[in-house]
This record gives sequence, C-alpha cells and structure tokens, in this order.
Amino acid sequence: MKFTEPALDNLINLISRLPGLGPKSARRIALYLLKNKDSLMKPLAETLSNAHSKIIRCQICGAIKSLDANCTIEKCYYINNSYDQLCIVENIADMWAMEATNIYKGHYHILGGTLSALNGSNPETLLINSLIERVKKNNVKEVIIATSATIEGQTTAHYINDSLQGLSIKITKLAHGLPVGSEIEYLDDGTLFSAFKYRNPISEK
Ligand SMILES: [Zn+2]
Repeated sequence: MKFTEPALDNLINLISRLPGLGPKSARRIALYLLKNKDSLMKPLAETLSNAHSKIIRCQICGAIKSLDANCTIEKCYYINNSYDQLCIVENIADMWAMEATNIYKGHYHILGGTLSALNGSNPETLLINSLIERVKKNNVKEVIIATSATIEGQTTAHYINDSLQGLSIKITKLAHGLPVGSEIEYLDDGTLFSAFKYRNPISEK
C-alpha cells in the first residue's frame, strides 16, 4: 500500500531499508515518528546527522571512531602497543560476538566486509596494508583469522594468509565446526567458543 504523500513514502522507504525491517514495520515506525515529532523525530534526525558527520571508520584498525578523537575501541594509535595476538573479523558485530565467548580478550582488526567484486570490497577497503603494518609494528606473534564460513569469508581468509606470508608469525583460522554458510554474528556462543578454541593453523613459521 502506498501513501499519497511523497515525503511520507520516502520516509517509509528509507526505514524499510534498515536491517530486519519490512514495509509493515517501516510504516509503523514512520507513523510513530510523526506522532512524536518533537520528542523523538527531531532529536533522532539531529542525532543521525551528527553521527553521519562525526563518526568515521578508523583507517588503521577498522573500528568506529570519532572524527576528532583517537580510536578508542582498538587504541591502535599507541605506537608502542606490543601484543601477541591479533584477531581478524569481518565487522564490529563479529567482534562483539567473539568477545561474548570470553575466550579471547586481545586486539582486533576489523575488515569491514569480505573480498567481493559485487559490493566493492577490495584489499584497500579491508585495510590489508594496515594489517601488515600492525603485525610488524606491534610485534604480533599470532594472527587469528575469524572470518565467516562462507565462500567470501574463506576467500578473504586465504587472501589474508597469502598477504602475511614472509612474516615470522603463526597464522590460524577458526576450526571447522562452524556450520557451512553461517555468519559469525549469528552463531550461538557455544559453537563460536569451540570453533575458536580448536582453531587450526593455516601456516606456521
Ligand atoms: Zn583504530
């Protein structure tokens, strides 16, 4: 069903593009916002605009950071930040899922996607050069590749493994046991925990 007011149609259309929302929920949200214009719609619009201009992706580790502040999640700006392990994940939700298992408390490198011709992700957008730099600068001993068990995730894992050849480090990836086609973000803690615990080396130096 279409409303006749173009501004409202546009609002519903944009809301329906958010993950997990269909046209029906989008309509409900749009009408709810209109009903609460001053108390919710206005502050939400201002917050969105502010987030759009102020929140950026850290070009070193891939975490989210404020435009005018240091990277707080990974604290990757510390020059002498030496650590043994670096875990590579596709996105921030994967990092949160990994942290929830309590099996790993180290540092992360957030790719922001997987290698894909379709969505335009390439080694540059995935911060692969920065990853190599971090491994060298921070004296990383082990890189743990925690990409999803999808074709794209595994292709990316292979690419990262190839990119890190020549460095004297151990490279591991999550063990099989992850359901094929599954995405890290949606796994239950137990599956993710055991997959992480029994991770296998891809290559070892
Ligand atoms: Zn950072």
